[in-house]
Amino acid sequence: MKILVIGSGGREHALTWKLRESLNMDEIYCAPGNAGIAQEGECVPVDVAQPQAILEVARQIKADLTVIGPEAPLVAGVVDDFERAGLWVVGPTKAAARLEGSKVFAKQFLQRHAIPTARFVVAETFEDAVKALGGFGLPVVVKADGLAAGKGVVVARTRDEAEKALDEFMRQKTLGGAGERVVIEECLRGEEMSFIVLTDGQALLPLAPTQDHKAVFDNDQGPNTGGMGAYSDSTILDGRTRDAVLRSIVAPTLAGMAAEGSPFRGFLYVGLMMTAEGPRVLEYNVRLGDPEAQPILMRLRYDLVDLFKGIREGQLAAVEAHWSPNPSVCVVLASKGYPGKPEVGKVITGYEAAEAQGGVKVFHAGTVFRDRQLLTAGGRVLGVTATGADLPGAIERAYTAVAKIHFEGMHYRRDIGAKGLRRLTRTPERNSPPSRRVPGQPKL
Ligand code: AMP
Repeated sequence: MKILVIGSGGREHALTWKLRESLNMDEIYCAPGNAGIAQEGECVPVDVAQPQAILEVARQIKADLTVIGPEAPLVAGVVDDFERAGLWVVGPTKAAARLEGSKVFAKQFLQRHAIPTARFVVAETFEDAVKALGGFGLPVVVKADGLAAGKGVVVARTRDEAEKALDEFMRQKTLGGAGERVVIEECLRGEEMSFIVLTDGQALLPLAPTQDHKAVFDNDQGPNTGGMGAYSDSTILDGRTRDAVLRSIVAPTLAGMAAEGSPFRGFLYVGLMMTAEGPRVLEYNVRLGDPEAQPILMRLRYDLVDLFKGIREGQLAAVEAHWSPNPSVCVVLASKGYPGKPEVGKVITGYEAAEAQGGVKVFHAGTVFRDRQLLTAGGRVLGVTATGADLPGAIERAYTAVAKIHFEGMHYRRDIGAKGLRRLTRTPERNSPPSRRVPGQPKL
């Protein structure tokens, strides 16, 4: 098979790396890719914002299977274009991708199907939005409706901060059309968790549980980023909570989308807040998370193409995926200035030595090869991902590898996985391998 991966980040590097292992794979391509992905397969230029351009690349290389990494082409309808052309593609249709493409759609969908989420109001004008703030305490959360590359959510501690965000989104239009409508919602407290499933629209396969680290600095301080690291370990989620999330959140989501005529196929990512009252949906993403994909795919012991065949044939329920019991940790190395404007073009050294260490894979995000040197080319640069016999071992390995890498202005969090370590000391008996499917839940 000829396989094509669309995207250029750490998630796409991890997908390409994993798909390359597949026994179904003859040739692998990535568009547009990055310097690290170019070591795994052939990179082809493409504008990922243009579904027709993506389809053209797939036609040119005669791709048998195309996997879409980022959200923008999904929301723009690339899957519909592929399906019309009779080509095999992994991802949800445009109608199903509204779960991520419009926060207003997602919140109203959650409400229609009585799926637990934060109380909210939709506002279409700045004046209505400011008025709506009065109905909420502080902090309050302001969300732009459309895609905003992680910049569309503000957790405002004061009313001034909330009004400033509304002014930027709705009057100054800093996010363009994405901020024309907003969602204002109550601020939830608790621990955040990413719950990702692969689904054919009916059956589902929960992926190994992960926890992201969105804030730029240690102890969740500073502004939000696209993600500064993630780890995967069975202690993140006990069986009872996992079953509750599947029953009260994931199952009604898939059933609701199917009932509304937009069945969801592909990776469905549910961002959850584990509140004292139970899990609440913060957001949906319609693809694998980045950096969650890196530690998840490192633990997958199954041919990814066979999983995708399961979706295409509606046979996911019959698939027996296996996960390594060993935890994995991904530490993101970021450029100076990130999550604001990153300084790029810095020489990266030590990445080969980092990878030479066993149990470590350095996934590339913003990198480029120029004049035989590896240079930084974006905010998030590398995702140093390690696995170990236990979580402390995986963390130590990841940071030992990180210590070998250098570029000017490099910064990273030093506490990736620390929440998992705290959980481990509280409940050591929970450190058992994840089970692959929820009892009684395969068909929804
Ligand atoms: P979202 O894109 O909706 O997940 O928002 C990005 C981040 O903002 C989340 O990962 C949370 O850290 C935070 N956030 C979003 N909604 C809420 C909420 N209702 N309460 C508290 N934090 C939130």
